[in-house]
Amino acid sequence: MQGHREKAQNVVIVGGGFGGLYTALALAQRKNHPPVLLIEPNDRFLFSPLLYELLSGELRGWEIAPRYDGLLAGRGLAWLQDRVERIDSHNHQLHTAAGRTLPYGRLVIATGAQSNTFAVPGAGQHSLGFRSLADVERLQRLVALLKSQRRPLQRIAVVGAGPTGVELACKLADMAEGSAVIELIEQGPQVLPQARSFNREQAALALQRRDVRLRTRTQVEAVEAEAITLRCQPEGDSPAHSETLAVRAVVWTAGLSFRSPPIDPAPACDSRGRLLCGPDLRLTGHGDLFVAGDLAAPVDPDGAAGEAPGVAPPATAQVAFQQASVLATNLIRSLRGEPLEPFQWNDLGEMISLGVGEASLTAAGVTLAGPAAYQLRRLAYLTRLPGRPHQLRVAAGWLADWTP
Ligand SMILES: Cc1cc2nc3c(=O)[nH]c(=O)nc-3n(C[C@H](O)[C@H](O)[C@H](O)COP(=O)(O)OP(=O)(O)OC[C@H]3O[C@@H](n4cnc5c(N)ncnc54)[C@H](O)[C@@H]3O)c2cc1C
Repeated sequence: MQGHREKAQNVVIVGGGFGGLYTALALAQRKNHPPVLLIEPNDRFLFSPLLYELLSGELRGWEIAPRYDGLLAGRGLAWLQDRVERIDSHNHQLHTAAGRTLPYGRLVIATGAQSNTFAVPGAGQHSLGFRSLADVERLQRLVALLKSQRRPLQRIAVVGAGPTGVELACKLADMAEGSAVIELIEQGPQVLPQARSFNREQAALALQRRDVRLRTRTQVEAVEAEAITLRCQPEGDSPAHSETLAVRAVVWTAGLSFRSPPIDPAPACDSRGRLLCGPDLRLTGHGDLFVAGDLAAPVDPDGAAGEAPGVAPPATAQVAFQQASVLATNLIRSLRGEPLEPFQWNDLGEMISLGVGEASLTAAGVTLAGPAAYQLRRLAYLTRLPGRPHQLRVAAGWLADWTP
């Protein structure tokens, strides 16, 4: 009985991305924090906003993808390299891929989002992604091959002109050094539909300067090994037409899907599969389960799922990062039976990478583009890297590289 009570005081965090890892780090800073176990299958955390700089070689792997054992060492946090397969909320237990059954007192689900190819024929099979270290290596190998072969009209198609597609297209164009044409395909009428107008204008200029071929109002109909079929719906009364392009690769950046490990009993989800939670980030109807990051769908105080534009915070690292400290507070309060705090998102602005050595940003009333924005963006992210020791190691590396 005593053992059971002790176990019920622990916190288990599922997923070591922005929501999960930063919640664990925030808990470690609280006095007398409960035992914390982070469950994450990968051995490295990935600071995805700087993935473009890893691709282009402007940053190094250890800087943006530090190992969990190093990040968590000496902080009183335990890490299990495993994958959660099922959560039994009745019995306060979870089951992992390696066959473990683990008890929890409070559980945080932070398993993030996956790419969504919307069942476009061939897209899942023939497209590359841009979400992991393996994706970066595949793209680096592809660009090296295109540069060495220099065949006529080598094309890379990037699908989706949201932030990932635009930032990736600019970096790829710079890296390819004229050996490939970058096609950027967007079904809507413009790039970066959700972005601040300054960043959108800077992005359009950056794409133009790099001769990226932007195709708006264009949907992908099918992807094959070396071809992409597009359906273009021009503005006005002109009829829609289809076209098939020969491509060396397709990189899919359009769309996200959300999937938590199965939970019994099943919690309430929104239409996209995100877990509905209260303002305190507690799952609706599950008092001991919390959610963080992309998977969280806050319900507004009137009871409507936060799907209306402007109501739900976006699926960004910035949001997950801010949720982490509120969540750490709420986990501790929940274990003590105290009232919980609501999470309120504070929009700190927007920064986008626009090719090698360039960026654009809009934050705190400041708009800036070009090399100065690139340096500022790097510095801003330095302060967001996980844990002070890692920030200092990276800063020391940058100082050592610096040649006045
Ligand atoms: C290329 C790219 C660039 C981006 N740039 C920006 C940017 O500039 N600014 C910004 O704010 N946001 C950016 N984002 C979005 C940002 O990365 C996400 O919003 C953020 O990572 C969400 O955090 P999360 O914790 O919900 O999920 P993630 O960070 O994706 O972490 C989820 C973790 O859960 C683990 N996991 C999954 N399933 C299981 C399981 N069953 N058991 C255990 N662990 C599991 C995964 O391995 C992963 O480590 C970018 C994303 C990408 C892909």
